[in-house]
Amino acid sequence: MSLLVVGSVAFDEVETPFGKRERMLGGSASHFSISASYFTDVRIVGVVGGDFGREEEAVFERHNVDTTDLERIPDGKTFFWRGRYDFDLNTAHTLDTQLNVFADFKPKLSEESKRSRLVFLGNIQPELQREVRQQVKSAELVALDTMNLWINIARDALLEAVKEVDVVIINDAEARQLADEPNLIKAARKILSWGPRALIVKRGEYGAALFTGQTYFAIPAYPLESVFDPTGAGDTFAGGFMGYMASQEKLDEAAMRRAMIFGSVMASFNVEEFGTERVQRLTHDEINERFRAFKQMTHFEEIPFERAVKATR
Ligand code: AMP
Repeated sequence: MSLLVVGSVAFDEVETPFGKRERMLGGSASHFSISASYFTDVRIVGVVGGDFGREEEAVFERHNVDTTDLERIPDGKTFFWRGRYDFDLNTAHTLDTQLNVFADFKPKLSEESKRSRLVFLGNIQPELQREVRQQVKSAELVALDTMNLWINIARDALLEAVKEVDVVIINDAEARQLADEPNLIKAARKILSWGPRALIVKRGEYGAALFTGQTYFAIPAYPLESVFDPTGAGDTFAGGFMGYMASQEKLDEAAMRRAMIFGSVMASFNVEEFGTERVQRLTHDEINERFRAFKQMTHFEEIPFERAVKATR
């Protein structure tokens, strides 16, 4: 059952066309773990500073997220990210990134964390992703996310990290940039040739696609009329995906396809409000309802060509 995540735990300042928040709980590991907590037990590996307060800790407690491996540096400052979205909510413009306590972080995993069955190497310096990967040798499924900053400034370490994982979960612009290939299908083939057995490409409001060596599977996004803040949608998707996988015995492609739906369901809730606000107070009924809606949205009857043609003549 156990699912481990390493990634940023942050304070985010975010501005969208619909409003602004100055200091909210963010970071890849935060969004991921809150989302995954609806499916399984999650442990976080990361670091925060003395400014990380009771209120933020309480969010993890309420979701049963184990923070034993979340290091606290009392005289340090928590990772900080400031971003803005314009009307095209698919693109985040980074205005400021302060690694703070993450700059000197050396992840030390507890014995229990080292035995995790599934691991998510969330968006953070690729060197840290690798340090965690090397401490969880027997994990059955390891997935990785990243972003343009690390592709730009830490490409070599990132490529090494990609070789060491089973699944890469990134957005379409990152897939093109990572593979240095404008065509997404070719980019996917190239990334898979480095070692992972699956690549998931997140495409914002257009859905997500799963590439394996032989197969392709794609789903739309849940159609929403009001989107307030896409920050963390990718991590929330990954949390739903990996959380569901952790609840499964067989980690095969059929499970991955269902996990894609759960990932999309969780991400659809995330964007409805700022930060983690909406995902923090979800019910199982709400999750089930959107899962069923996905089934309806994507279901169609198989009709042989001859029968379809006959009906119109
Ligand atoms: P996303 O799911 O891609 O929207 O992730 C948004 C989250 O990523 C925000 O909560 C930020 O705190 C975090 N973030 C932004 N830049 C970085 C970075 N360079 N490294 C790690 N986390 C980051």
